[in-house]
Amino acid sequence: MSLQVSLIQVTPFAQNCALIWDDETSRGAVIDPGGDVDRILAAIEKTGVTVEGIFLTHGHIDHAAGAMELAERLGVQITGPGIEDKFLLDGLEEQGRKYGFPARNCTPAGWLSQGDVITLGGAEFSVLHCPGHTPGHMVFVNHQANFGIFGDVLFRNSVGRTDFPYGDTAALITSIKPNLLPLPDDFAFICGHGAASTIGAEKRSNPFIR
Ligand SMILES: [Zn+2]
Repeated sequence: MSLQVSLIQVTPFAQNCALIWDDETSRGAVIDPGGDVDRILAAIEKTGVTVEGIFLTHGHIDHAAGAMELAERLGVQITGPGIEDKFLLDGLEEQGRKYGFPARNCTPAGWLSQGDVITLGGAEFSVLHCPGHTPGHMVFVNHQANFGIFGDVLFRNSVGRTDFPYGDTAALITSIKPNLLPLPDDFAFICGHGAASTIGAEKRSNPFIR
């Protein structure tokens, strides 16, 4: 089997919602459905994937505001992020009014914590707690496929914002250095916004993690 990934840009923040699946069984999962649920459903239909669950990296509106609607329309459960982000999921409707796009508060069926293992597209991913951008941010890592879903922790040549009242730059860097940088140089990852990258490329050129 091999893992397939399709990114769907959602919300006015151009967030990368990810559809991930196993090409043998066509079973998969959706990560971070922030909105534009009809477009996500169209992408699922196009691939013919049977979605078995929805997973959230963190509680920000552009990652989580479409999760309840998608969960209801697909008849699946939402898992994650860390319970530390509950205050964000409980405030999504209010945030939606502020930013002018539809958002529903989100109640996941389960929370994630460091060391958990989740199945995405038939493959096991380790869950790493990487706070700083938000307190309950989780990153999903598959060592065999050398592939990860990093949300808004580490970007190509950048790192996640920490200028929120609950943001913590020191925690973010502490999340990245021991958790992510020891991964192999050819370890590929997708981000919540913008292009994908590899650990090696970031070690060489990302000014925020020198
Ligand atoms: Zn975010």
